[in-house]
Amino acid sequence: MKNILTVALGCLICCNVWSNEQTKYANIYADSLIKQFDRSLEYFDGGLLENPFYAKILAARIYLETRNAVEKNGEFSLVEVLDSEAYAHVVKQIDLIAKNIKAYQARIKQSEIKNLIYPSSGANGNVTGNTFPYKVWSLTFDDGPRSQRTEKIVDNLYARSLKASFFMLTRKAKRYPKTVDYVLDANMELALHSYSHPDLSKASDKKLEYEISQAKDDLQKLTGKKLTLFRLPYGAGMRKTDLREKIAKDHLIHIFWNVDTLDWKDKDPVSIYQRTIKQMSRTPRKSGVILFHDIHAQTVIASEMVMDYLIEQNMTVCPVGVVILHLNTIPQDCLK
Ligand SMILES: [Zn+2]
Repeated sequence: MKNILTVALGCLICCNVWSNEQTKYANIYADSLIKQFDRSLEYFDGGLLENPFYAKILAARIYLETRNAVEKNGEFSLVEVLDSEAYAHVVKQIDLIAKNIKAYQARIKQSEIKNLIYPSSGANGNVTGNTFPYKVWSLTFDDGPRSQRTEKIVDNLYARSLKASFFMLTRKAKRYPKTVDYVLDANMELALHSYSHPDLSKASDKKLEYEISQAKDDLQKLTGKKLTLFRLPYGAGMRKTDLREKIAKDHLIHIFWNVDTLDWKDKDPVSIYQRTIKQMSRTPRKSGVILFHDIHAQTVIASEMVMDYLIEQNMTVCPVGVVILHLNTIPQDCLK
């Protein structure tokens, strides 16, 4: 960029005036570079300063903005006073910068695609919580809805301005539509946990159709919500490619967990709470997905204790779907 500025400044003194056509073209070209620069600002976000092209882009922008400022003052702009040789040089330099930006963006995109989460039978289609950002947690509740217990948990979350994900069984949702509304009215996230909770690892195609596809359609119809997240009952069959392919074909991402409260087995809320805290401290980034079941009395108490712990520890709590969007580089208010 230094060359361009030197040439441009040198030409201020001695160059020919351009034709209107040339000026118009140069200005359009310069405007497109400004747009490109603005887009690159959005794209690189916090990493911009480390970008080796940053200084060049910035120099180009200063140059182009100076052009505009000079124009406003009714003087010749730098672009206007460039001769054709200098102009060609500017174009070449700008092209080179644009090419470099593009290549850099493509490289970033490729590495991002590797880490994107989307319905897939591979690792990209299964969320455990281990890749969640530092101190970010999702509270997930399975096997409901169960009227009072589910509603009490929703009250506890709501009172603390927290949002959780409820992996419902369509059969129960149809039985307790008012509780489903209660969950949705509090802006909780709705997710699917099959129709009737069988072990799907050895299920026939017909059964899978009913427990996944039909369960999804019926729960969507009941709630008017689009479902994107699914959790296998018992987590069974998570490594079975054909089963995972079926889930992906239904445009669902499989959600596992990295903290298992065992709240179905253990009736003591304090010991459930302690187990949860212990497991949370052992996760790679002090973050992830916590598994609860909103059908047990002990879960109501234990999950409330965990909510208070998360707040005390200054942790971020967001529904799984929101963390996924964030990981897919779509900014989310919940994670700011
Ligand atoms: Zn379950």
